[in-house]
Amino acid sequence: MKVHEYQAKEILKSYGVPVPRGRVAETPEEAGRIAKEIGTETIVVKAQIHAGGRGKGGGVQVVHSAQQAQNAAKKILGMTLVTYQTGPAGRIVRKVLIEEGMEIEEELYLGMVVDRSEACPVIMASREGGVEIEKVAAESPEKIIKEWVSPVTGFRPFHPNKIGFGLGLGLAQVGKMRGILSGLYKAFIEKDCLLAEVNPLVLTKGGDLIALDAKMNLDDNGLFRHKDIAALRDLNEEDPLEIEASKYNLNYIKLDGNVGCMVNGAGLAMATMDIIKVAGADPANFLDVGGGATVEMVKNGFEILMSDPEVKVVFINIFGGILRCDTLAKGVTEAVREVKVSVPIVVRLEGTNVAEGRRILSESGLNFAVAIGMKDGAEKVAEALKRQ
Ligand code: GDP
Ligand code: MN
Repeated sequence: MKVHEYQAKEILKSYGVPVPRGRVAETPEEAGRIAKEIGTETIVVKAQIHAGGRGKGGGVQVVHSAQQAQNAAKKILGMTLVTYQTGPAGRIVRKVLIEEGMEIEEELYLGMVVDRSEACPVIMASREGGVEIEKVAAESPEKIIKEWVSPVTGFRPFHPNKIGFGLGLGLAQVGKMRGILSGLYKAFIEKDCLLAEVNPLVLTKGGDLIALDAKMNLDDNGLFRHKDIAALRDLNEEDPLEIEASKYNLNYIKLDGNVGCMVNGAGLAMATMDIIKVAGADPANFLDVGGGATVEMVKNGFEILMSDPEVKVVFINIFGGILRCDTLAKGVTEAVREVKVSVPIVVRLEGTNVAEGRRILSESGLNFAVAIGMKDGAEKVAEALKRQ
């Protein structure tokens, strides 16, 4: 689960990481009032969406009076902000963060993620932070320093020393870096983060280090022990179909292609997406109806699949283990009748009660293409797409 910048900053602040003074606003008037309270010469108005690249997309405005802050908020609130991370559809801005402006000497990068191959958290840092960090990572990865932290021994003073001196910072700044990194690390571990990122961490003209931006992505599996953070979930930032699917306990992720996939088991779902790609088509979603799906769940899954206007063909790939093929066939035929499906459906069924499942499909009077094996199924899907 992602949280907004202003929420991530509140969390980091509680761990001793310095952040600019500021507050969130939902109306231009409120933004103006907050700017007045802050009272600094420079004020920054920042769109709050769950995506980066806001600066380049026009979602970050540096202004010089409370009135200007109000005007900037008026422009930003309600706008559809398109950045390289939102995709072309963009996101509607519903909140702005009003902050004191900083006099920036330099923009650094700090990030922390779980490194799966090393099975431990890794801290990343660079002198070349700011809005071009993706370019730095792609073109000159040697400018990003990495330090792995053993979960057994934990964070130790040598970590910030290696990073700070590795970045070429002076003694005083390395000292400040120690506090910031240990706070960031503690927040990362205690809040069960998948990612905690400060980009930029700015070195001000006065020599301070301050987190000017903050991103946090928390592990959904850890949310049960962070009720306060779970309450920060912003449904406006999530795909409506994914929200709908989560109500029915379906694992559904929206993707960019046009083949709607209904599969049971995450492994089979991954393999199905791969084989669709090999056949030259693109999956519209990942959908795992689960090992023990009921007729109701299959129907709900099908309805969610069909509410995606991008879906041009449906591929149902089921291995009947606990979920029996006849249960699936009943769910699918009921759903197809109710949802009024107008696109071709390719079905590959195997496993428990497969004969009964196929019989239900073929006697339904509905138009299913039955595939023998996954490869045949994927090829039938690609052919059906070409005919569209
Ligand atoms: P992002 O583009 O979504 O990552 O948003 P950021 O919060 O990182 O802001 C983008 C850029 O806006 C930063 O890299 C800064 O260059 C600029 N910016 C943000 N806050 C301030 C500020 O207080 N003063 C000045 N001068 N620039 C700022
Ligand atoms: Mn940023």
